[in-house]
Amino acid sequence: ARPLLQAEHLRKEYKLPRGQTLRALDDVSLTVMQGETLGLVGESGCGKSTLGRCLLRLTDLSSGDIVFEGRNISALSERALRPIRRRMQMVFQDSYASLNPRRRIGDLIAEPLRVHPDNEGRKRSAADITARLDELMSLVGLPQSALARYPHEFSGGQRQRINIARALALSPQMVVADEPVSALDVSIQAQIVNLFTDLRERLGLTYVFIAHDLAVVRQISTRVAVMYLGAIVEIGDSDTVLHNPAHPYTAALISAVPEPVIRHDPQRSLLRGDVPSPVSPPSGCRFHTRCPQAQSRCSAETPELRDFGDARQAACHFPLGLSA
Ligand code: SF4
Ligand code: MG
Repeated sequence: ARPLLQAEHLRKEYKLPRGQTLRALDDVSLTVMQGETLGLVGESGCGKSTLGRCLLRLTDLSSGDIVFEGRNISALSERALRPIRRRMQMVFQDSYASLNPRRRIGDLIAEPLRVHPDNEGRKRSAADITARLDELMSLVGLPQSALARYPHEFSGGQRQRINIARALALSPQMVVADEPVSALDVSIQAQIVNLFTDLRERLGLTYVFIAHDLAVVRQISTRVAVMYLGAIVEIGDSDTVLHNPAHPYTAALISAVPEPVIRHDPQRSLLRGDVPSPVSPPSGCRFHTRCPQAQSRCSAETPELRDFGDARQAACHFPLGLSA
């Protein structure tokens, strides 16, 4: 596999009144390989959604570089981004909010097809658009008759299928899905996760899949990145990271998941308290205020992401189950 997207030293800061700075992303670097699903996990407020939006340039970065399909897109204007936008799409959690209730499903999905020209740069004909709509409906497992109906006539799961169809309309390479199943019933979640997996295989898609539910991430991801307070604290092969975590924060997230989805040692750690404010993050290791393994070095020295020779990196002075 080759890299599809490379993010280097991404920072996203918000200036607050009284000269304070909120660091939503603090030096995030990662590579997304062609055809993989990179799961992005962490408690809410850790920067997952911000990172997802920044990767697609839906939110501007404060600094850092994003190379997509070999091209640095971090400083491109909206106009220069337009042809690239069709290659990268986003699916959101709230399927209802992202669908205009007064428009028919067919119109909603056709919108990107009307706005963007086809591969030869031509405006699409009505017949082309109709054919593509039919194709998209069968891809996401909805009947053609759905095209003439309105969003409120569908269940949450069906609406998420509609959102996926719209995201796929322009045949993107990469899809960033932000908590796409979090609002759905558990039984429906599995169906939508299976649909994502199936579409990845059939269309050769690449996903960044944001979720707080580790069971869902475990099911779909080939690799996992764990975020804490705007930074990646562990990243690597999904089985390695989720079954044998090196970072105490990853272990703590896992210990919050009910058995038997993921095996873990319940003695290892418990996640207590809230995520500290990103306006004044803790010194040294940003997890030290909640870490059961913390030692004096942890508040003084910031641990860098290090390689452990097992297709995984973690940022911890005293990693679990590994020699430091
Ligand atoms: Fe815990 Fe220290 Fe590792 Fe941070 S560096 S995760 S405080 S052991
Ligand atoms: Mg979020």
